[in-house]
Amino acid sequence: MAKKINIIGAGVAGLCAGSYLQMNGYETEIFELHNVPGGLCTAWDRGGYRFDGCVHWLMGATPVNSIYRMWNELMDMKNLPMVFSDDYFVMEDKNGKSLTIFRDADKLEKELLEKAPKDKVEVLRLTQAIRHLAKLDFTNKKAPEVITLADTAKMIWSMLPYIKTYREFGSVSLKEYSEKFKNPLLKRAIREGFVPEMSAIFLIFALADMHRKGSAYPVGGSLNLARLLEQRYLNLGGKIRYHARVKKITTTQVNGKEIAGGVELQNGEVVPADIVISAADGHYTIFEMLGGRFMDKTINDYFNNYLVFDSYLQVSLGVARTFENEPTLLVLPLNETLRIDDQTTTDMVGFRIFNYDPTLAPEGKTAIVATLGTKNYRYWTELRKYDKEKYQSEKQRIARVLIDLLEKRLGNVAQNVEEVDVSSPATVIRYTNNWKGSFEGWVLTPKIGLKQMKKELPGLKNFYMIGQWIAPGGGLPAGLMTGRHVAQIICKKDMKKFTTKSF
Ligand SMILES: Cc1cc2nc3c(=O)[nH]c(=O)nc-3n(C[C@H](O)[C@H](O)[C@H](O)COP(=O)(O)OP(=O)(O)OC[C@H]3O[C@@H](n4cnc5c(N)ncnc54)[C@H](O)[C@@H]3O)c2cc1C
Repeated sequence: MAKKINIIGAGVAGLCAGSYLQMNGYETEIFELHNVPGGLCTAWDRGGYRFDGCVHWLMGATPVNSIYRMWNELMDMKNLPMVFSDDYFVMEDKNGKSLTIFRDADKLEKELLEKAPKDKVEVLRLTQAIRHLAKLDFTNKKAPEVITLADTAKMIWSMLPYIKTYREFGSVSLKEYSEKFKNPLLKRAIREGFVPEMSAIFLIFALADMHRKGSAYPVGGSLNLARLLEQRYLNLGGKIRYHARVKKITTTQVNGKEIAGGVELQNGEVVPADIVISAADGHYTIFEMLGGRFMDKTINDYFNNYLVFDSYLQVSLGVARTFENEPTLLVLPLNETLRIDDQTTTDMVGFRIFNYDPTLAPEGKTAIVATLGTKNYRYWTELRKYDKEKYQSEKQRIARVLIDLLEKRLGNVAQNVEEVDVSSPATVIRYTNNWKGSFEGWVLTPKIGLKQMKKELPGLKNFYMIGQWIAPGGGLPAGLMTGRHVAQIICKKDMKKFTTKSF
């Protein structure tokens, strides 16, 4: 009889793990608290618009990146149209100057040399690193837990030409790296294009993959991606239970050893299994579902000392007009600093103008989305809990500032806004249960590097963790790869050959 595996969470990691396990003859069931798949990889519909809450770019969008072949095991990639925009983002300042961060390194170099000639040496170093890393295949096809000595030797050999670049950019944060540049706009674009504390190597990896056209935006956006992954899983015979919040992972003692035995749902139902995989929030898994019983110093270190991506508000606007010639992501300066909450202010806002995805708005109309980070997710969760009226008015206050800003810069916006939707950290927590409402788990800082957390916990057998909370930097590929890896580990333990099926 096939082993039964319970998976907690129908985010990208849970869905991918489920499909790979089904391909290998296991009987799996996913328990998801929400009523849709995707977790953070999601979108929501309002008044004819679809407001996307995630994918800016999908790594592995084309065969030049070997992640493509893995996505193609889970989605029919040739039938998923991709958008390759010229720009990654355009940043403007108060003096009317602008800087385009092009996806193509040659165009980027030309733009930066023209706009920031005094930074010539650093610009050339940056674009050279991008072109260099564009030759590297940074995909772990095999789980670190199952690789052989020969695999390790092959990997080290293939990495050798890139070690110098990795050391140079992996040892500094984007904030530190930005200090090397003199041009204020370029400095800012580097510091805040991602997250200032993030390792500069992340920027180089991202731009390298964009340069070789390995990353792109999938038409239909995040919810479409999640639905494709869900469909594949169901077609492979997997089962999903929605509105099924797991409260506890049950354990039993066999010969003095603790073994995961199943999950207990919020409604008290216990669903037994041979193996349990948590593809849900890391903090909730370790401290709530397992009651903090399976810990060691390394795990404690993560939760006490490592940086987590901030939570965020998302202001989504449905605008009854088109924006043909605007960039995909336009970062605009505010005339006055905007107070987001008692610990967070900002003086610039990035708008994703979805003029490139017709599936997200009725014809002749456009969805626009802005994400605003917050240093105080509690402000929002408590406001929602204790003062709903103020919660709503605070969200509307921020939306108004953003509409004004778009009106001043693009014109003819305010009168055409027909949908306004503001989500907050309280929304993120309610629908994904992510710790502190974080949008991507652990920040890939120079300190944490690319080191993953272990998938198994000390003292607990037949249990695994996957997803963004074990892979610093998070992202959709982390869900795919950790989901694939856990299936390889389970197959190896059962002495089965890991097999996959492609579209
Ligand atoms: C604004 C934004 C933009 C992003 N842009 C990109 C991008 O361009 N490219 C990219 O690669 N990545 C991007 N990401 C990151 C990416 O979305 C995430 O890293 C990834 O989706 C995480 O997947 P996951 O499966 O590990 O976790 P999650 O998506 O958090 O999934 C966990 C699932 O578990 C469920 N769950 C939690 N607790 C329980 C419980 N107790 N019982 C049952 N179910 C439970 C949740 O509801 C959720 O469905 C972005 C994220 C955000 C927020």
